[in-house]
Amino acid sequence: MTDIITAPVLHSLNPATGEVVGSVPITPVREIPAMIQRAREAQREWRRMSLEDRAACLVRGGKVLVERADELGRLLTREMGKPLREGVGEVRGCGAWMEEETRDIAAALQPDHLEDERTISTVFHDPYGVCAAITPWNFPISMPHSLVIPALMAGNTVILKPSEETPLIAQAYVEVLSAFLPSDVLSIVHGADEQGKALVAGDVDIIAFTGSRETGKKILGSASGGLKRVILELGGKDPLVVLHDADIDKAARFAALNSFRNAGQVCVSTERIYVDERIAPEFEQALLRHAGELPVGAGEDESTRIGPMINLRQRDHVLSHVDDAVKKGAHVLGQGPSAQGNFLQPTVLTGVSHEMDIMREETFGPVACVMRFRNDDEAIALANDTPFGLGAAVFGEEEHAAQIGRQLDAGMIGINKGCGGAAGSPWVGAKQSGYGYHSSREGHRQFTQARVVSRSKPS
Ligand code: ADP
Repeated sequence: MTDIITAPVLHSLNPATGEVVGSVPITPVREIPAMIQRAREAQREWRRMSLEDRAACLVRGGKVLVERADELGRLLTREMGKPLREGVGEVRGCGAWMEEETRDIAAALQPDHLEDERTISTVFHDPYGVCAAITPWNFPISMPHSLVIPALMAGNTVILKPSEETPLIAQAYVEVLSAFLPSDVLSIVHGADEQGKALVAGDVDIIAFTGSRETGKKILGSASGGLKRVILELGGKDPLVVLHDADIDKAARFAALNSFRNAGQVCVSTERIYVDERIAPEFEQALLRHAGELPVGAGEDESTRIGPMINLRQRDHVLSHVDDAVKKGAHVLGQGPSAQGNFLQPTVLTGVSHEMDIMREETFGPVACVMRFRNDDEAIALANDTPFGLGAAVFGEEEHAAQIGRQLDAGMIGINKGCGGAAGSPWVGAKQSGYGYHSSREGHRQFTQARVVSRSKPS
């Protein structure tokens, strides 16, 4: 009893109100090695199951996610802040896609058969063993889901360490799936950096991480001792290039939605906008108009399009970027960021430059930063002037935009649209935005060790 009362807990706060939504016990660091050991033992059986049987377990969990989408979506919104429709949609989407997703992963992991004049080979895609998945709070179900499902399908067991900001929805997700899985196939560690570090340093075989570039570097460093496999999806500083022949209103609408969606807390948010000076005044006014169409408020309020920032630290980080930009000569168009609690009004900045933090570091907030360019070469140079390279978008006449898009140093480039690819495309970052990648046949295979078994052809 005393233990229960004194055991340290992690309180999850509603970012809209500051109220405690609930709590979970923090996993003591000293317990992590034993958890990894149990996951390793469970993996022996799990890997022996067929892909179809593993998929069947997950699909049953997926059905429950769909059935409970309203309830879990509300929990997600209360814990993370995004509009209720998006919270429910996130839960339902993960559940509803499970069947198709597991089928695609199973297809990706089929062995390859190769032969030449002398040799017949089979390339198997075998599990590594235990996978540590460390995930952020901005899509608190779909981020864990995008790592956990391919890892499990491949025959690994998984220990998830969700963000300390959103432990409740992650706990619910793990409980839903675990009800249909053998014990210790999927487990959860709660806590912050110390727990993450212990997991990465423990006896795991592969680490899949989505989060900041700085933490990604630390994880890679820690994993290097054991040459553990690492997949990192890191932040971005995505550019949007608006060419002189763009549909200005369409480009401005996209700029507003992609800068402000999820309060800008998306790894592929538009963080930098470069617009041809010939159309800049018209574009900026259209952007301001579209920004005004997105009401800010608590996620549970039906009219809300933009919820609060996750916490005060993130809010202050965004405000410090705006302050730095204004001090260095940027203009705030229309209303400023006017903070109330964790809420920030969507803000449009013009006259920004690469001297400003807001054009160099990840802002992760509802700020659209517009810089004018004189010609296409300058636009390409500016868009590529960053160590990041996750997504990018180019708006303009289709062929013109495609030709500029091919010259951008990003992993995913949208032409007159956002950066997401067709089903089956990889989710991939270039430069310092990623290390390995996921989704797609090749992405799913990154959760596996290739093993080539060869025989000589009878002569
Ligand atoms: P943010 O704090 O902005 O969500 P981070 O990249 O700092 O993004 O953290 C993402 C996740 O990584 C969180 O779950 C955090 O607890 C965890 N984490 C932080 N530092 C480390 C580390 N050195 N090793 C492993 N995990 C870590």
